[in-house]
Amino acid sequence: MKSGRHFLQIPGPTNTPDRILRAMHRAVIDHRGPTFAELGETVLSDLKGVFKTKNPVIVYPASGTGAWEAALVNVLAPGDSVLMYETGQFATLWKKMADKLGLDATFMQGDWRSGVNAAAIAEALAEDKAHTFKAVCVVHNDTATGITSDIAAVRKAIDDAGHPALLMVDTISSLGSIDFRTDEWGVDVVVAGSQKGLMLPPGLSFNAVSEKALAVAKDGGAQRSYWDWHDMLGPNASGFFPYTPATTLLYGLREALDMLAEEGLENVFDRHTRHGEATRKAVEGWGLEILCQNPDEYSNALTAVLMPDRKGADALRKTILDGFDMSLGTGLNKVADQVFRIGHLGDFNDLMLMGTLCGVEMGLQRAGVAHEKGGAQVALDFLAQTDNL
Ligand SMILES: *Cc1c(COP(=O)(O)O)cnc(C)c1O
Repeated sequence: MKSGRHFLQIPGPTNTPDRILRAMHRAVIDHRGPTFAELGETVLSDLKGVFKTKNPVIVYPASGTGAWEAALVNVLAPGDSVLMYETGQFATLWKKMADKLGLDATFMQGDWRSGVNAAAIAEALAEDKAHTFKAVCVVHNDTATGITSDIAAVRKAIDDAGHPALLMVDTISSLGSIDFRTDEWGVDVVVAGSQKGLMLPPGLSFNAVSEKALAVAKDGGAQRSYWDWHDMLGPNASGFFPYTPATTLLYGLREALDMLAEEGLENVFDRHTRHGEATRKAVEGWGLEILCQNPDEYSNALTAVLMPDRKGADALRKTILDGFDMSLGTGLNKVADQVFRIGHLGDFNDLMLMGTLCGVEMGLQRAGVAHEKGGAQVALDFLAQTDNL
């Protein structure tokens, strides 16, 4: 038994605020009754603001992976070609899913240290004169690497090539933390999840869907049932769902939407930017290296930190968990044991960030990792000297 609060600083699931926990602590209601309809209607309508879209947002009782699958099967049939880009482990997993679903996925190779190269996408699309690629799929914020890609640039690459491919974007770890503009960036299918920027427990996921994607889904896509967008949209029009929704999580979502609105979405993004900057200053102060190599692509949701000799990250994480009751993200796949990830997204403030950074610095010392002292102090000075709005 450990006293005090556990520090859940993995990049999702994030800390669920007490307000959301309380909002969910209530009796389950009839999901075909009038009280539910009101909840469903307001949630479905207010979600649009968070996605910055006028089009429908579909909610699934599933983890983010479910919404990945929904995105693919509604508009793509086995044998269809898709263009995907390797920004890290999450892009890799989405590509593996495309393979399993029988899609012909071209995976543009990345180095796990930089984001989507829009020029390379433009080139691949320009060469595809027969328009065989039906979709371009990219991850906005790859949570394995702490890299945020420029989605507007990907949209421009598709437009410049005059290519009709749909643009699909995974925003599971960016929505509600890092600015994302579905309509302005012409994103046809957005994939999101509940347990990161939206501050909810795991269990809900989302697709925001453009008119173009809905039209493609009408007569196309793969055989599907549970994930079918059009089956959802019918009952959704009056606030209902075709099957039992995750009622309790939807009460939590109602509260999360209120919290984001009260703080103001743009203020939420600014807060994440400030905490991202403070974290990077601490890493620099420790003399350690950030995995993401391009400052324009630094993620404001998490920071992946390279170990001095590219080993021992898991031992360090264990030291920190055992000694200071804080969970940090593990290195995945190609960077296993080489990096640890500091989540700084969701329900978070300056003192929680300083607790996190102090925990890392104490862990580095206790685990005997070569570093310079005082990284946390650099972050502390930065936070003291800059306004938190
Ligand atoms: C967390 C995450 C996923 C996986 O979501 P699950 O809810 O675990 O299914 C996919 N993509 C990104 C970018 C993520 O951060």
